[in-house]
Amino acid sequence: MAIAIYPGSFDPITNGHQDIIDRASSIFDKVIVSVLENPRKKPLFTVEERVEMLNLIAAKYPNVEVDSFHGLLIDYAKKKNSNIVLKGLRAIADFEFEFQMALVNRKLDPHLETIFMMTSNRYSYLSSSIVKEIAFFGGDISDLVPPEVYPLIRKKLQS
Ligand code: ADP
Repeated sequence: MAIAIYPGSFDPITNGHQDIIDRASSIFDKVIVSVLENPRKKPLFTVEERVEMLNLIAAKYPNVEVDSFHGLLIDYAKKKNSNIVLKGLRAIADFEFEFQMALVNRKLDPHLETIFMMTSNRYSYLSSSIVKEIAFFGGDISDLVPPEVYPLIRKKLQS
């Protein structure tokens, strides 16, 4: 069974993430979207809030589940019986970092394969940071995030 782990901050989930989840769900037997608890980043949403938002999207797919993790991805993947890490690639700027991460993970665990999925053209400019920046200054983000999570983002920014 091909189980892919799709790790990220998802702070918050965007249409770009949703597109990757949608496409991955038809390729892998199971996709585990997992929120990385990264102590170095200062997230807008708590891990619980991000898991809740991702669950609204995952609910549409019988083979997508949502989880969170901290520590090394290789250890987490083993725990989940997965040897596939799924990453999205937007631009050249993503490449260098992702290339390094993929090689480091392979060094740590040669059985762990990182698979990259190219962004859809229409989402190539989208990132969680861009969404937060636009929303923070009162811009319209309704076309950038899934409709299910839009009200939750609005609520957070008003609080
Ligand atoms: P960001 O804050 O940059 O959006 P995340 O850590 O939440 O990043 O991203 C999780 C994963 O989703 C990464 O593999 C990232 O490359 C991918 N991703 C993010 N945005 C997009 C997009 N617009 N198209 C394709 N993949 C994306």
